[in-house]
Amino acid sequence: VNTEKNIVIIGCGASGGTAAQFARKTDRKTSITIFEKNGYSQYSKCGLPYAISGIIPQLDNLIEFNEEWFKKQNINLLLNTIVEKIDIKNRIVTAKKANTAIEKSYDSIIICTGAKPFIPPVKNINVEGVYVLRSIDDAKKIKSFIKKGKNAVIIGAGLIGLEMADNLYKMGMKITLIEAFPEILPNTIDKDMSEIIYRDITKKITVLTNHLLTNVESINGKISKTIMKNKITGNEEKIPADLMIIAAGTKPEVLLAEEIGCKIGNTGGIIVDEKCQTSIPNVYAVGDCTEYKDFVLGKPMLVGLGSIAVRQGITAGVNAAGGNHKLLKGFLQTSTSEFFDWEIASVGLPSKYLGDKNILSGKFNGSSLPEYFPGGKPITIKLLVDEKDGLILGAQAVGDKAAQRINTFAAAILGGINVETMRKLETAYAPPIAPTLDAVTLVCDIVSMKIERKNR
Ligand SMILES: Cc1cc2nc3c(=O)[nH]c(=O)nc-3n(C[C@H](O)[C@H](O)[C@H](O)COP(=O)(O)OP(=O)(O)OC[C@H]3O[C@@H](n4cnc5c(N)ncnc54)[C@H](O)[C@@H]3O)c2cc1C
Repeated sequence: VNTEKNIVIIGCGASGGTAAQFARKTDRKTSITIFEKNGYSQYSKCGLPYAISGIIPQLDNLIEFNEEWFKKQNINLLLNTIVEKIDIKNRIVTAKKANTAIEKSYDSIIICTGAKPFIPPVKNINVEGVYVLRSIDDAKKIKSFIKKGKNAVIIGAGLIGLEMADNLYKMGMKITLIEAFPEILPNTIDKDMSEIIYRDITKKITVLTNHLLTNVESINGKISKTIMKNKITGNEEKIPADLMIIAAGTKPEVLLAEEIGCKIGNTGGIIVDEKCQTSIPNVYAVGDCTEYKDFVLGKPMLVGLGSIAVRQGITAGVNAAGGNHKLLKGFLQTSTSEFFDWEIASVGLPSKYLGDKNILSGKFNGSSLPEYFPGGKPITIKLLVDEKDGLILGAQAVGDKAAQRINTFAAAILGGINVETMRKLETAYAPPIAPTLDAVTLVCDIVSMKIERKNR
C-alpha cells in the first residue's frame, strides 16, 4: 500500500462520506482516514422525518454506507472520535476517542464538519420535550415524545418544519406551526405560491405566521407551554405543548477551520473556491460548513442542502487525491419536498432575495394532464425572469411533478437559455403523461408575452 499520501477527512456526514468515496475512486492506493465524532456511519439526515413517523420503518434504515462498507473500500473510519486540533505547520491532526489521543499526519485535509441547528435565544428553552432535528439521536428523543392527541409545536415553517408537521400530524398529534416571516416556506418560494399550501394545511393544523418564540413554560422539567409574541399586534399568546421541535435554520460549524486561520465569510461559512479549497493550502472544506456563490446572484451564500454537500464532497475528494475537479461557478439551489400531499420545488431564490434585479414574473395554473384525460392534478408554476435579457432567475412549482418540472428550469438557468427559447421547448406529450403544451412552456409563454407587450 502506498502510504505516502494521507488524506484526513473530518466528519462522516453526506459531504465527508462522499469525499472519501471519490478520493478512493480517484486513487486506489492513497491512505484515507475519516474521523467522526458521533457513533454512526454515513446516514441520510433527509430521511429523519420519515423514520420518525415510521414511513421508513427503522432509524437504522437511514444508514447508507456502514462501517463494513468503508472497510471494504480500504477507508479507515473512526467513529466516536472527535478532532480537536489541526497543526498546519507539521501537518498533524489530533483527535480523541474516549480518553485516547490519536495523531495522524496528513497531506490533504477535508473539513466536513457540517452545521448545528440554530436555537433561538429564548429563556427556559433547555427543558425535556424541546428538541432540534439534526441527528439520529435527536430523532430518538423526538420519537419518545410522540403521543396521539398530544400537542406538538414546531418552530420554523421551512422545509424541515413542514416535513415534521406532516409526519407528526400523520401520527395523530395536534400541530401548531410557528413562523416569524409573514409566510410559510419564506426561503424557498414566494408568498403567492406558498399561500396555495397555506390555504389547504390550515384546515388540518394551526399555522401562526408573524410570530416569534419568546419563552417556554415547564412542569417538573418538562415543557408544558410555548409562549409566542404576535409581531403585528405585540400580543403574547400561550400554546399548550407536549413536544416542541425547533427547525429554525442552522449555523455552520467552523471552529476548527477558524482556529487554523481559514477565511470565514460574512455569512459565517468557510470560504472555498471552485475546487473546494480554503484559504489554507492543502485544506479543503465542503458541505454545510461552507459558503459558496449563488449561480444567479454571484453572491456568497450558506450551503444547506444535502444535494450540494454531496456535489462538493465529490469535488474535494477527487482533488485531494490528485485529480482536477471543479464545481459550477455557483449553486443553482434546486430543492424540493412534499408535505400534506403537496409537492413543491424551486430553483434559485425567492423574489425578495433577488435585490436590484428587474424581475418580470408570470404564473401558470393548470392541470398536469390534458383536460379530457382522467386523473389530472393541479400544477402551478411561477417563473422569475430578468427583464433586461429574458434570462431565467428562478422558478417555483407547487403541485404534480413539481420537482421534475423545476429540474428543466435548472437546466435552462445553467445553460443560459432565455425564456423566449424555453417557450419553444419540445416537451414529451402523451395524454396519460402530459399535455401537448406542458405547464413548463405555458408559463414561459405568459412571461414572454409580458416582455413583448412591454417592448411594443
Ligand atoms: C431533517 C433534515 C432533513 C433534510 N432534508 C433535506 C432534503 O430533503 N434535501 C436536501 O438537499 N437536504 C436536506 N437536508 C440537509 C442535509 O441533510 C445537509 O445539507 C447535509 O447533511 C450536510 O452534510 P454535511 O456533510 O455538510 O454535514 P453533516 O451531515 O452535518 O455532517 C457533519 C459531520 O461532521 C461531524 N463532526 C463535526 N465536527 C467534528 C469534529 N470536530 N470531529 C469529528 N467529527 C465532527 C458531525 O458529527 C457530523 O456527522 C436535511 C437536513 C435535515 C436535518
